[in-house]
Amino acid sequence: AAIGHYLRSHIRTVPDWPSAGVQFRDITPLLSNPRVFRVLIDQFVHRYFDLKPDAIAGLDARGFIIGSVLAYELNIGFIPIRKKGKLPFTTVEETYELEYGSATVEMHTDAVRPGERVVLIDDLIATGGTMGAGAKLLQRLGAEVVECGAIVDLPELGGSAQLRAAGLPLFTLVDFA
Ligand code: 5GP
Repeated sequence: AAIGHYLRSHIRTVPDWPSAGVQFRDITPLLSNPRVFRVLIDQFVHRYFDLKPDAIAGLDARGFIIGSVLAYELNIGFIPIRKKGKLPFTTVEETYELEYGSATVEMHTDAVRPGERVVLIDDLIATGGTMGAGAKLLQRLGAEVVECGAIVDLPELGGSAQLRAAGLPLFTLVDFA
């Protein structure tokens, strides 16, 4: 809880971005301060050191920042799950609904092998759509999503509850009402 409070104090809230009425939780101050960045990454390292996943998957784009450093530190591979149209090889894709319209994420078909135990990382859970789509991609290729990890949860949007109800273990460090 003390760590959560510390990390929370380094997240900047930007009102009315990207659109009116949205309070955007900006994590860049967590990254620019080396002491805070280390504390942040170490939370995930300690969480997953004993779990010994086979790989870390990260969601485009802020999930790449946390996820790749975490994978490096755990000495395991990193799998990028990208927005549609960015990956060059054969892909599987998953489309999910947004407030207005939809979004599609993709992963290479050879990114995981059946039975691999993967931790899925992003910066923030709002409606849970992005994390849920990423988990589905991994599961469709036969991987086991052992946990979804994020820095921030916005519990009032119900996403984290929905992901947990769908059987996905979740680990987050900071809540914003
Ligand atoms: P969801 O799919 O759960 O509705 O939205 C989460 C996704 O949108 C994440 O990939 C996250 O990076 C991005 N996102 C939505 N709102 C915010 C926000 O307030 N701050 C940050 N840093 N990312 C957000």
